[in-house]
Amino acid sequence: MPQHPKQTICPFCSLGCGLLIEARGADVQVAGDPAHPINRGALCARGALLARSRTSPLRATAVRYRPAGASSWEQRSWDWALDRITGWLAAGRTLPAPRRPVMLGGAALDCEDILALARLATAWNLPHGLGAASVSTAAQAVQRTYGIPTFDFAPDDFLRSRTIVVWGANPAESHPIAMRWFLAARDRAARFVVVDPRLTRTAAAADLHIPLCPGTDLALIEALLAEAVSRGAVNRQFLAERSDAAKVLHEKSEPAGAAAPPGAAQASVETERLDDPRSVWQRLAAAIRRSPAADNPADFAQRQCGVSKNRFAALCNAMFGDDRQPIALVVGNGLAQQRLGLAATRSLCLLHAFGGHAARPGGGVHVLGSDANVRGVWQMANDAAGDARPWASDIAGRKGAIIVGENPAVCTAATSRLFDALDRLRWCVVADLWENETAAFWRRPGADPATISTEVLLLPLPHPLELTGTSINAAGMKQRREAILPPVGDARAVRDFASRLAEASSTGGDDNATKPTVPQTVRPAKPLESGSTALHELGVDLPPSPVPQQSPAVSFRSCGSGELWLPLWSSLAVEERTDVFEHLPTLPTDRPVVSVLAGVVRLGEHALQSVFTRAMPWLVEMAPGPFVELSSVVAAQLGVRQGEMVRVFSAHGQIDLPAMVTRRMPAFQIGERKIEQIAVVGLFGHCGLATGPTASSLAPPSDPSRRCDIQKAFAAWVCRSDVRRPPNSLP
Ligand code: SF4
Repeated sequence: MPQHPKQTICPFCSLGCGLLIEARGADVQVAGDPAHPINRGALCARGALLARSRTSPLRATAVRYRPAGASSWEQRSWDWALDRITGWLAAGRTLPAPRRPVMLGGAALDCEDILALARLATAWNLPHGLGAASVSTAAQAVQRTYGIPTFDFAPDDFLRSRTIVVWGANPAESHPIAMRWFLAARDRAARFVVVDPRLTRTAAAADLHIPLCPGTDLALIEALLAEAVSRGAVNRQFLAERSDAAKVLHEKSEPAGAAAPPGAAQASVETERLDDPRSVWQRLAAAIRRSPAADNPADFAQRQCGVSKNRFAALCNAMFGDDRQPIALVVGNGLAQQRLGLAATRSLCLLHAFGGHAARPGGGVHVLGSDANVRGVWQMANDAAGDARPWASDIAGRKGAIIVGENPAVCTAATSRLFDALDRLRWCVVADLWENETAAFWRRPGADPATISTEVLLLPLPHPLELTGTSINAAGMKQRREAILPPVGDARAVRDFASRLAEASSTGGDDNATKPTVPQTVRPAKPLESGSTALHELGVDLPPSPVPQQSPAVSFRSCGSGELWLPLWSSLAVEERTDVFEHLPTLPTDRPVVSVLAGVVRLGEHALQSVFTRAMPWLVEMAPGPFVELSSVVAAQLGVRQGEMVRVFSAHGQIDLPAMVTRRMPAFQIGERKIEQIAVVGLFGHCGLATGPTASSLAPPSDPSRRCDIQKAFAAWVCRSDVRRPPNSLP
């Protein structure tokens, strides 16, 4: 056993804080590494409690097999399991493409594991979605604007920011160490601005909080774009020198009514003049001036988003007040993981680019990802599969699925569809440290295992303290982690079993079958498209993605092949702004029902799609169960008091949760109508120490162009519930 502290890294979020581990027999002490540039000795509760999870009795320490129709696990050997999987893969190899097995992988896996899984996918011709459920939407948006997936999270650089805008993130809970840097910058006179529907803990520490109606972020950004253009709050030098904004397009290159495709600007350049009416910049500005927001941006923001004119003026002052001061933009999943998340995040990046902040110390766009190796996975998965990565919904209609280090059953929108797809698989392999909700889908509440014929294998993975590996954190630091303690039980690294399965591809299966050398993809690699085979099979018919009709594309030479793009809220049809309602729920008539906009939120005690942290007793004490947060106004309308049960309905399901009545949930005045909001705590399920209904089950399916199954804002109804309050509830 080691006698001196050993360095390792925290696996619970994209910051990758440094840890010092001192192990003396069974006593394992964890401390923050004072030399680490991100956390400098500090840790949040999740990181500090990491070692306690290693010996949890809930850990999966042996291979488990669930035969078709069985109601319990059987223990099996690794050899038996790998032979079984090889047989399944061989049988799936000759199937038509939509039926072939699919592979999903989480963004907390090490780079070594991702590479091994990518090879496994190549060997067996499996479509794969490695890291698809992490920050893929936000990373796409930044990449398409600036040509890189995200700017490095450089802590010292925040101290040079004059304004930090956190949009759709709650780092006080999700990334507490990042919050320390934001507060340090605020203490050095940086303005700290938070845009979020709720008065979160992060918003409570802000100089300026902009509450907006959930799901209307794109409209607020459109108003800001209009304000920026009308004020001339644009860094012309940056745009002219560092982008293609000054390129002039040939008239003949633009047939009437046709959108200029990305790259067209390059081909039709005849000169570079920012003020030329035919320049890319002038055309972009003209499109913004045509927006209804241009007449009166403050009024537009109030009517569309419920943002008061005073707050809008304060936000404009913070963002455009001094165009020489750098603004750091921090984007969270609250912005990206909504129906129009890709368009909203891209528009926000465009607004940031107008100011030229990326060229200044203290500027930049930072994506707060939830998984430890999101940078590494994004890089590698993109290299391997481009835009064509499948997601959890793509399981539907397939023969089998391999799901590694990921738990889509607690975060995928319209969860019942995912469960339905899992029920219809011939086989399913889940690799995790825990028996998570995805592995145990057949024993979820309300399911009858006898009617589910899916064979399931649960492969035990090593704990982060038992595994040597590499990951890339939000700061772009490639960090090496050494194994400090021996594996518990029969846990085995992904790279080990994935490599063995890949090797088996040369001998397994039908020898006459074609052995392809590249992964089969499920969608053509177009940047924005709508609809996917699997979703259509599920009966979902989403409206087309918002594709700009009149805005030319711009390439940013500063960073590579990024493009500017102008999605406008006002150019979308109403049904594109809102949820897809296939059917409305039947609402009770014997009690008051309130229509609300709902947001799915996560607690600070949760990470890694939660089953990991829901197995850690001290974290469970702080977050024993889910709840629905609502205002005292809504509670009074429902006749519900603190802790009493509330039923939340949507077009996709209903769940019963205890009420947490707070003053953090403002209502929004939209025209004549007052819109109330609620927040439903997500990332719970039926496994682990803390259990409860899954909030994502209420959310509508996502727009396939987002490449992410998670959806955080949707329309819902609430009423009082007669269901008994669970013993583990918090309020
Ligand atoms: S969870 Fe994130 S913020 Fe907390 S210690 Fe780990 S890496 Fe740092």
